Amino acid sequence: MLDKKYPAEPYRVKSVEYVKMLDRAEREKAIITAGYNTFQLNSEDVYIDLLTDSGTNAMSDRQWAGIMVGDEAYAGSRNWHNLESTVKEVFGFKYVIPTHQGRGAENLLSKLSIKPGQYTPGNMYFTTTRYHQEANGGIFKDIVIDEAHDTTAINPFKGNIDLKKLEALIKEVGADKIAYVCLAVTVNLAGGQPVSMENMRAVRELTKKHKIKVFYDATRYAENAYFIKEREKGYENKTIKEIVLEMFSYADGCTMSGKKDSLTNIGGFLCMNDEDLYLRSKELVVVFEGMPSYGGLAGRDMEAMAIGIRESLDFEYIKHRVLQVRYLGDVLKEAGVPIMEPIGGHAVFLDARRFCPHLTQEQLPAQALAAKIYLESGVRSMERGIVSAGRCVNTGKNHAPKLELVRLTIPRRVYTYAHMDLVARAVIDIYKNAKKIKGLKFVYEPKMLRFFNARFEEI
Ligand SMILES: *Cc1c(COP(=O)(O)O)cnc(C)c1O
Repeated sequence: MLDKKYPAEPYRVKSVEYVKMLDRAEREKAIITAGYNTFQLNSEDVYIDLLTDSGTNAMSDRQWAGIMVGDEAYAGSRNWHNLESTVKEVFGFKYVIPTHQGRGAENLLSKLSIKPGQYTPGNMYFTTTRYHQEANGGIFKDIVIDEAHDTTAINPFKGNIDLKKLEALIKEVGADKIAYVCLAVTVNLAGGQPVSMENMRAVRELTKKHKIKVFYDATRYAENAYFIKEREKGYENKTIKEIVLEMFSYADGCTMSGKKDSLTNIGGFLCMNDEDLYLRSKELVVVFEGMPSYGGLAGRDMEAMAIGIRESLDFEYIKHRVLQVRYLGDVLKEAGVPIMEPIGGHAVFLDARRFCPHLTQEQLPAQALAAKIYLESGVRSMERGIVSAGRCVNTGKNHAPKLELVRLTIPRRVYTYAHMDLVARAVIDIYKNAKKIKGLKFVYEPKMLRFFNARFEEI
């Protein structure tokens, strides 16, 4: 029986989608055809899909009802007005620009706010965020606390910015060489680790002193707020909504992927308080996304996002969300499987270095493990290690990240605890025979964001 520390689902099922499991021979054929890259598998060939929590959310009946009141006018859609006022109320910024997804907002912000040669320090990188920064001449600098790079270090706010690292960078290059600080809540690539309110406040104070802007990557605001309520003194009795509003009061703006915490399948936005940046974004969004009243989205999708944002602030929802993820991590941990700790908000990360100590990083252990999990169980996960990190733009050498992880990402409101048990059993069985996992090598390596389309072969 489920321990009472894990809450049952605060919703019931009204519509179902059938999934089927291929047999082992079929799965073997599928993963070879996919070039051992789980991104290249067909969804139909996957039994439990933990590739990502992006755009895989189950929408509520209220959101589906919202889909039916889509106002598909080219300009001035009422759904846009609803989304705009919801975002302003929840995040507290003066201006909002809709975008088709998070990277659309990153593109606009990077183009408008980075002069070539300027730095864009952040609490670890995210793939598309860093790509847009670098493509616009920015120089990424990792200023997350050291513990974030250690899969075993226990820190309740492992996504925090190291203020000393930020201060040292300001001293070294000068404040005017810093385009803005990017602060992600939570830190995806560190395992969904949260940032404390205290840290956000301190980052604000330091940057204010030097007149440096701070833009949040708001993607997992609700999960971060839950961790603050759970772990930070003084926030136990605050609502998720109050915590979110305070978090963003320490920023000059944010980029947002609506495909994550705002419980939709597509969408995003860019926020700011600066009027000049807003006016320039309003011009640029037309070129890349669409009119500033739809930004690449259908009216119905904006409506679903507005409703999803409100639902994401419900305590019972977000508590179940975070604790369902923790359940999977706890079961794996109890069986001795090496995972990243503490368990983050959206995923459980397997530590492929400790899982496959017989493989070197150049043998792509996390990529190999993700392929093996699919082969043995039909569960799809993704690599977050040397393949995702890509190559240095200057030297052409592989970045060699300390973290070599496989991400088991849990879509919101989609799977049950029984599914988590099935995944755990599969991973535990593979761990018992981990020595059998063979390393991989690239047979096709795309130049940009290579992890999406790369192909591999067993060594
Ligand atoms: C998904 C994600 C993005 C990019 O958003 P898209 O909607 O996929 O374009 C940016 N930052 C983080 C932390 C993300 O997880």
